[in-house]
Amino acid sequence: MRSPIPDYLLEVLDACGADAGAVADYIPELAAANPDRFGICVATVDGAVYAAGDADVGFTIQSMSKPFTYALALADRGIPDMDERVGVEPSGEAFNEISLDRESGRPRNAMINAGAILTHSLVDGQDGAARSERVRQGFSRFAGRDLVVDESASSSEFASAHRNLGMAHLLKASGVLECDPVDVVEGYTRQCSITVSCRDLAMMAATLANAGTHPLTQERLLSRPVVRQVMSVMMTCGMYDAAGDWMTDVGIPAKSGVSGGVIGALPGQVGVAVFSPRLDTHGSSVRGIRVFERLSSDMGMHLMDVAQEGRSALRGSYVSEGEDAVTVYEMQGDLRFAGAETVVRAIAAADHTTKRVALDLTRVYRLHDVGRRMLLECVRRLELDGRDVLVIDPERTLSGTARTGKDPLEVVDSLDAVLSRPTHRLE
Ligand code: GLN
Repeated sequence: MRSPIPDYLLEVLDACGADAGAVADYIPELAAANPDRFGICVATVDGAVYAAGDADVGFTIQSMSKPFTYALALADRGIPDMDERVGVEPSGEAFNEISLDRESGRPRNAMINAGAILTHSLVDGQDGAARSERVRQGFSRFAGRDLVVDESASSSEFASAHRNLGMAHLLKASGVLECDPVDVVEGYTRQCSITVSCRDLAMMAATLANAGTHPLTQERLLSRPVVRQVMSVMMTCGMYDAAGDWMTDVGIPAKSGVSGGVIGALPGQVGVAVFSPRLDTHGSSVRGIRVFERLSSDMGMHLMDVAQEGRSALRGSYVSEGEDAVTVYEMQGDLRFAGAETVVRAIAAADHTTKRVALDLTRVYRLHDVGRRMLLECVRRLELDGRDVLVIDPERTLSGTARTGKDPLEVVDSLDAVLSRPTHRLE
């Protein structure tokens, strides 16, 4: 069978293709873009990539670079240090608004130019060239291939970067920018001029959606807390003065750029990139936004579309037969508070008829810290009630963590092992 997904993407392009808006014309390289280009790429967190239309056409990354540079600076300096220097509040203003906090001189967030310019200066590197290279290499790792700067777009943009230079000088004057303002704007301009395609951007976004691990190379590029911070700021500030409309209509952490690209990263699911150069008055791709609205509603991608993972966490519970009978609680999926709570509730309500109780985590894909603590507390309470507790945990999802000051958990690889009792103990 041929996958229906590429056909669906073609249909979306067809449905969203009506012309509107105007190509950015403040530099010749952007003004020369073919306005009819239209491409899309969707990359899943487990490495499937679907593309349609002009998905391999190159364009400058522009403001879609901002979340990735923010991620690199967060990784280099740590979240608390970055929080002191760059805010996380939506500005509700245009991307190039000179938006600095009156008292601290701190930019409102890293998605507007003032914050993005300061953020570029905070990436590791002893001078401008080293910082630019750190950014280019970092982006290349997120994309999974070597990316290059469009030198001609970069020099045109730098020659007309008066507003950005003005902002950098203000940042310097207010004491928040430590290095040379001209160097920083030059580096920021190079960052915006890195050439990418929808395919590259979808992989970069999918790395965020996959909590920092590249879906194809499997390299861990960012920590979970950094990714969470970046996607939160994309969600609240990524679409500038249209952030509220975007949240309600689309509900996907996103970022647009004046070259006509829009990227979205849906946690745990997909990275999406759309390219179409005609822009609306906010400087975002008209058809790009339309496509995201369509994908969000067709594919249930809105973050606030409520998933009820708790309801499927407990796959079943049963009592095995025979002399060495055991009551088994079989769990599945991604266990957070709501999922673990359904398991805890079932165990608490049960009137156990067997001495042995087993928690079967064979089908648990990920146990969040809250789930781990709740299950360990269950084990403790069951033991206080006089039960022998076993954990069926071939991947060591629960039992990888030692219970300090307690007897080790009794862990087995499969239910068969429980019944014939060749168990082994984890230290
Ligand atoms: N290079 C552009 C700038 O800083 C990027 C703007 C954008 O894509 N919104 O002005």
